[in-house]
Amino acid sequence: MEKREQMYEGKAKKVFATDNENYCIVSYKDDATAFNGLKKGTIAGKGVVNNRMSNYLMQLLEKQGIPTHFVEELNDRETVVKKVKIVPLEVIVRNTAAGSFSKRFGVAEGTKLLCPTLEFCYKDDDLGDPMVNDYHIIACGWATKEDLDTITDYTFKINSFLVDFFKKINVDLIDFKIEFGKTSDGQIILADEISPDTCRFWDATTHEKLDKDRFRRDMGSVEEAYQEMMKRIFG
Ligand code: UDP
Repeated sequence: MEKREQMYEGKAKKVFATDNENYCIVSYKDDATAFNGLKKGTIAGKGVVNNRMSNYLMQLLEKQGIPTHFVEELNDRETVVKKVKIVPLEVIVRNTAAGSFSKRFGVAEGTKLLCPTLEFCYKDDDLGDPMVNDYHIIACGWATKEDLDTITDYTFKINSFLVDFFKKINVDLIDFKIEFGKTSDGQIILADEISPDTCRFWDATTHEKLDKDRFRRDMGSVEEAYQEMMKRIFG
């Protein structure tokens, strides 16, 4: 696979074209942002953790019947992925109240929810990624009813699998955000990343935060938290 021109640079990743029109190469950076880009910083080694963790989880999810964008890990920071058109939705699953859920609904952080919840946010930085419902999504054409049903079905399966996976390494999966894309032949697949940038991980015993909230909230030991997650997954 030959790496060609840079197609896009986001907050935490760069995307390059390849000599195969169906594939791109993602390169994970150590740059971190929060609060819609207002807070900026660097988390040393984050790109490596996010690349390796994300790839590992996507391969496990594939075995569970979830199609993903993963193709091949090239090195610590770079991965070949299937080229997709991103469905412009942040798909958020919550098992325990935290973050914006706690703020919006006045439910204390750490309150276990009676069942997993699903939220969609329309991906638009200028609008601050507003929360939307199924009707908004279908009415505005961000996804069809059929695609939304597929996304919903995959998302709850992904949550069940991930909750069990992290439980085994003594981590509670509090909530997470995923994104889906559509391939040129119309298949909905899991895209983007699953990492401490996009999930809330709490140690199941001490409830210590092992994710990007340490950066967002200036809690210190940010690098250490990412490395701890890496160590628990890969030993
Ligand atoms: N999240 C994300 N990207 C975003 C917003 C949220 O990856 O742009 C993740 C976040 O890490 C958390 C979950 O989605 O695991 C729920 O985040 P929440 O809505 O509570 O927002 P926050 O409190 O992070 O602003």
